[in-house]
Amino acid sequence: MMLSKWKKRSTTPSNPYDHSSTSAGHRHPVLQLKELTKRYGEQTVLHEINWSVQPGECWGIVGPNGSGKTTLLQLLAGTEHAQQGEIFLQQRPLHTYSRRELAQHTAVLGQEGLAPLHYPVKEVLAMGRYPYQNWLGHDQLATADQLLDEIMERLDLKELADRPLDQLSGGQRQRVAFGKVMAQQPKLLLLDEPTTYLDIAYQVHFMEWLDTWRRESNITVIAVLHDLNLAARYCDRLLALQEGQIMMQGTPEQLMEESVLKQLFRIRPAIVHHPDIDVPQLLLKRR
Ligand code: ADP
Repeated sequence: MMLSKWKKRSTTPSNPYDHSSTSAGHRHPVLQLKELTKRYGEQTVLHEINWSVQPGECWGIVGPNGSGKTTLLQLLAGTEHAQQGEIFLQQRPLHTYSRRELAQHTAVLGQEGLAPLHYPVKEVLAMGRYPYQNWLGHDQLATADQLLDEIMERLDLKELADRPLDQLSGGQRQRVAFGKVMAQQPKLLLLDEPTTYLDIAYQVHFMEWLDTWRRESNITVIAVLHDLNLAARYCDRLLALQEGQIMMQGTPEQLMEESVLKQLFRIRPAIVHHPDIDVPQLLLKRR
């Protein structure tokens, strides 16, 4: 069965698809997953996942529907819990973090962004600062107002500052949601298909903003991305999940191989090189 085949690959050191050692270096990982297993009832959704993420890396999680990508993100965010195994965040078990500590460390941005509530944009961005405020509402960061101003400037939100969310388009709300996670100043950012509802221009804008911000602030990013071409272009590393197991991890060049994508998604891919930047891109052949 497929499952046992990939299971063997994910745990065997000589796994030809496992390129994780190339970036391991001597640094301490931000995240380390050891033998992580998640079940829903009888169904095992993630099987004995072993994975390390180094500081400042940008990982794309890819794989077919139902392969466990969102579940993995929920475990990393601490909103779901595994039955077996352990997640270490900065060398410390994730379950020992308080909610406030976790919110100061990790931010999450989903595909829907924010609900269309009647809150002005400026106030929503300020909510990103909650983990740093004391019970009187005083921010640990004396320049928090300046930070919010800079974020609005950068994300073209200045003109929308006083507009309530329920008067914005889905794409504008997603920009506000992104601003809110920037205000949170996380060390680790988890993204679940953040560009799904954005038009093609904003998809690129979004990824460019993210790329600039993460490099400036040395943020570690883990993003579930459906679009393999965006993933290959913006992520340094890709993790491919198949039926709850790591099928492969490596650079976009290592993963964007016709044989790998054929196996992973059951498609007929053709890989070409981007004309301007040196990354592989996917085209689909006819069936
Ligand atoms: P992906 O993000 O790769 O599409 P998911 O992590 O959403 O995959 O889901 C993996 C599997 O876990 C699916 O079979 C899904 O039906 C199941 N699953 C996800 N969340 C739940 C839940 N809360 N309760 C029961 N089953 C779930």
